[in-house]
Amino acid sequence: MATLFRPNQLTQPRPQSIQRGTYFIQTWGCQMNEEDSEQMALYLEQIGFTRTQDLVSAHLVLLNTCSVRKKPEDKAFSLLGELALLKRDRPELMIGVCGCMAQIRAKEIRQRAPHVDFVVGTAQISEIPGLVEQALQARKFSTRLDLPERKGAVVTDIPTRHVGRHSKLKAFVPIQYGCDKFCTFCIVPTTRGRERSRPTHEIVEEVTKLAAQGTREVTLLGQTVNSYGKNLAEGNVPFSELLWMLDKVPGLQRIRYTSPYPRDFRTDLIQTIRDCPSVMEHVHMPLQSGDDEVLRSMKRLYTRDSFAAIIEEIRATMPDVGITTDIIVGFPGETDEQFANTLEMMARLRFDGAYMFAYSPRPDTKAAVWENQVPEAVKKHRLQRLIALQNQITQQINHGLIGKEFEILVEGPSHKNRDVLQGYSREFRMVHCVGPQELRGQLVRVRATEAHLWGLTGEIIEN
Ligand code: SF4
Repeated sequence: MATLFRPNQLTQPRPQSIQRGTYFIQTWGCQMNEEDSEQMALYLEQIGFTRTQDLVSAHLVLLNTCSVRKKPEDKAFSLLGELALLKRDRPELMIGVCGCMAQIRAKEIRQRAPHVDFVVGTAQISEIPGLVEQALQARKFSTRLDLPERKGAVVTDIPTRHVGRHSKLKAFVPIQYGCDKFCTFCIVPTTRGRERSRPTHEIVEEVTKLAAQGTREVTLLGQTVNSYGKNLAEGNVPFSELLWMLDKVPGLQRIRYTSPYPRDFRTDLIQTIRDCPSVMEHVHMPLQSGDDEVLRSMKRLYTRDSFAAIIEEIRATMPDVGITTDIIVGFPGETDEQFANTLEMMARLRFDGAYMFAYSPRPDTKAAVWENQVPEAVKKHRLQRLIALQNQITQQINHGLIGKEFEILVEGPSHKNRDVLQGYSREFRMVHCVGPQELRGQLVRVRATEAHLWGLTGEIIEN
């Protein structure tokens, strides 16, 4: 991994005060983790910590980890190694490990990184302030803190959420935790527990508060977000009904959601996306493989034809919709022919974009111990071919959008070029345009003038 600080930085002067001090959170993984990190930040600020972007000087460093692939786990252990050096120089530094890796590998973290002060599972974020207080006390007694490792346990409680939020233009709102699908490559049901939905009234209240504070767009989070609403105390609430409820929240202009599960993507939801004014016309639906046998061994509950039929219905209902997907190449046993079926599906369905990965065996998942693993070199080669194909498709699609108009929610200056504004269209296309900074937070209409792999450049025609 890239080193986050240089060795000579380790010798810089210690911070003056450790009363409550500053915190730094390093986050890996999905949007659920990003949202969890935001919750952690709120809890820490409640007990008097302030955020810093400087890991080296922070009094408290939290690593919010991801176990979905091996790479982020390696990065977390690598950073823990660097933090050991920092803590040797500055023993008052507190280090906590949270997230999916903490949930399933607490024992290993304790062994490999004894300098860690506490480890927190995925449903225990609200316990962080208490653990930090204990860590501050414990320093006197040189003890270490840990929550018991919950490997194999099914997490069933819904994480407690902090009620206050920072004022943000766009915010993530978890509506569902865990997953019951147990795809053979996926660690999420182990790290996040069984599927459970947040009560509808809580979600509506949270979104109402966010909108009152200035949030204009929310992204609803769930591992299989469109199966939201089962087994609620208030009775079943279909996902599409929740969208209509949130559409009535004053001040809220846009609603996104991720990620839906294909089998549960039904006509009522498609019509809601078309008809509900604030729901964005973007669908991110993971295909994972374009081969039926691979899908079966992944334990995905759809076929290539049933998936394609959903895409066709979505496009027939909303011709301008943006559709993106996730693909895994090199799943155990995937043959050249089966990979060719994935290429063929990608060429046929022509997604606007895709997150593409080589299969990474995860301990405690079924597929990890299968003997028919695909060699790394083959996986890498297939991934390169797939990325090349998708890039070509994305370029072609974006080129075909030149001259079209889009509604953009202006987020502020572009990260790549501070002289231009950036925002996403309702179809989730990144758009750059020139305009005054005061447009931040506003919806503007933009005509596309240039196409790129990352999105579009355009000119504002109305605001
Ligand atoms: S649906 Fe499958 S891939 Fe998605 S979270 Fe559940 S088990 Fe993992």
